[in-house]
Amino acid sequence: MIIKSFGAAKNVTGSCHLLTDDKDDANIMVDCGLFQERDFEDKNYELGFDPKKVDYLILTHAHIDHCGRIPFLVKNGFKGQILCTKPTYQLSKVLLLDTGKIIFENYKYELKKSLRKNEKKPELLYDESDVLNSFDFFNPVLEYNKPYNLKSGFVIEIRDAGHILGSSFVKIKKGDGSVIFSGDLGNKEKPIVKNFEYPDEADVVYTETTYGDRNHRSFQESKEEFLAAITDTLKNNGNVLIPSYATERAQDILYLLREFYEQGLLPECKVFLDSPLALSVTDIFVQNLSYFKEDKIPLFKKGDPFDFPYLNIVRDTEESKQINNVSGRAIIIAGSGMLHGGRILHHLKHNIWKKENAVIFVGYQAKGTLGRLIVEKEKKVSILGESFKVNAQIYTINGFSSHADQNELMEWITAVKTKPQKVCLIHGDENVMKVYKSKLEEKGFIVHIPDYGEEIGF
Ligand SMILES: [Zn+2]
Ligand SMILES: [Zn+2]
Repeated sequence: MIIKSFGAAKNVTGSCHLLTDDKDDANIMVDCGLFQERDFEDKNYELGFDPKKVDYLILTHAHIDHCGRIPFLVKNGFKGQILCTKPTYQLSKVLLLDTGKIIFENYKYELKKSLRKNEKKPELLYDESDVLNSFDFFNPVLEYNKPYNLKSGFVIEIRDAGHILGSSFVKIKKGDGSVIFSGDLGNKEKPIVKNFEYPDEADVVYTETTYGDRNHRSFQESKEEFLAAITDTLKNNGNVLIPSYATERAQDILYLLREFYEQGLLPECKVFLDSPLALSVTDIFVQNLSYFKEDKIPLFKKGDPFDFPYLNIVRDTEESKQINNVSGRAIIIAGSGMLHGGRILHHLKHNIWKKENAVIFVGYQAKGTLGRLIVEKEKKVSILGESFKVNAQIYTINGFSSHADQNELMEWITAVKTKPQKVCLIHGDENVMKVYKSKLEEKGFIVHIPDYGEEIGF
């Protein structure tokens, strides 16, 4: 079998791996995500392979860096099946529609700019109609620990990756050859979804390495840090901005804020969830209770565990603009998580230059994103074409990450009884991968870091 990576190879986003057998009988893809790092965005327009020849796309989970190029794949002739779990399908639909809109808005903006400057017209990656077309190809039949037969003798089996609702890692087998793709592995301390399961033997394991170089603070410490950042800001009549994707992280954050509220720890304030998607996502959560940690199920059965009196859900852009009239003591949760686009950018424009405000990052910020620049203490940043001074307080709470840390990544891979012939590192910054590589080598693993498009045979 031969595997080539066309994304998340020596970078974090754009996950996309293609497996073919020696006879070229079946072409199986794992994930087809959007590149979100600024330096890699051009790669979104080149797939690197013929989409018409792909028979199956196995989708590990609904994050855009794993599913965000599916409409582009379909637009370019993909006719195969997209295999995933039911929640992955439900969440992908919501997230892709949103992404389709953002891509189209950005395109219109760039087009106007190019016309004004008499420059080359930008290319539209895809729009809402391409997103709608792509839904016809989804086949959400995969269930954890149940083998599923593909053509030409391939068998796949997924297990819970413990990362977001419905997330999985997958083993692909044919005869006595096998490979595992980790997808994104979860942080075991996360409050709602179950923990990851462990892999069994395979010839080759592809593993994500997002946090391969470090360990998270404990969840409890992170909760305390989070509460302190909020209380300090509200005390000074500032606003708190929390960049977050609409799914999962936003729910985790609301879950915590509700908990703080019930414990009497949250000062009086207005919490805005500025996301039209949030309601549909909560519905999807409630329809999939079997994916949650046992002790959390009763809470969902009792009602909406994300709701509390300070919470306002913002649906349309008009309402979103009005948040800016609230002077102080507001907590605003909006996407996108890495400040790659979305409504959060408008809130940043209004808040980032005032020192009483705070931006609290609760998720990974990939290299080359605006989020990363701010986290790395850049003093001046460009937001929607305008330059702003960063005067607001910047906090990073890494214990809320939905990714496994170094110890957890190690725990997952060392659970295999017989070592694979090779471990391939993907979905990470290259310098992070190097740190994790030497950790694995200390344990006797043979490790390789594939390049974009490099052939890995076994
Ligand atoms: Zn993910
Ligand atoms: Zn990812």
